[in-house]
Amino acid sequence: LFAGPVDFLKGVVHMDGLPPADRPEVCFAGRSNVGKSSLINALTGRKGIARASNTPGRTQEINYFTLGERSYLVDLPGYGFARAPVAVVARWQALLKSYLAGRPTLRRAFCLIDSRHGVKPVDHEIMTLLDRSAVPFQVVLTKADKLGPNAIRPVLEQVEAELQKHPAAFPELVVTSSEGGQGIATLRAIIAGLD
Ligand code: GDP
Repeated sequence: LFAGPVDFLKGVVHMDGLPPADRPEVCFAGRSNVGKSSLINALTGRKGIARASNTPGRTQEINYFTLGERSYLVDLPGYGFARAPVAVVARWQALLKSYLAGRPTLRRAFCLIDSRHGVKPVDHEIMTLLDRSAVPFQVVLTKADKLGPNAIRPVLEQVEAELQKHPAAFPELVVTSSEGGQGIATLRAIIAGLD
């Protein structure tokens, strides 16, 4: 999938705003502050293409990026933001459900998990939604540079145990750092290998 330049296409707040499902896409999901914008910037080699500092009001859009002319990269709104109003959370959940269940061209979801925090209940909920929507997903650990190799081991074990509960999950994790560059080429290759 990963061919050609990456450009911002549009932010979507309703299902009818989605671009035509005429090419494959991958999406990125994660709790607010997990490092999703930084990862997308690192992956695409374009600093600032995804907003690196999100405010609650601006994170409620599904952001579409073009990957060349053949595919889309989709940045889902960050979830689990404690201060978001109930109505905003409800709208977001409805949009997310519709998107995941209704996007036949979605090839894979990447679920971002902070290396320091592991899987939280809200991540479990998203993974369960992915199972129900039959969207294959893969976990990407972020900010690995913040942990030493020994400190990351129990987190890897916790995430691997969690993935056993999810039929839609790929067993392989990708450990990344947008700062240090760890895992970025691997993730790019995974995306490139999808068709
Ligand atoms: P988002 O809310 O998921 O889009 O998260 P951001 O990409 O805005 O990152 C949230 C915070 O984590 C920012 O202060 C980033 O600088 C920091 N951050 C993101 N990725 C990394 C990383 O790989 N390593 C370190 N040390 N910090 C990171």
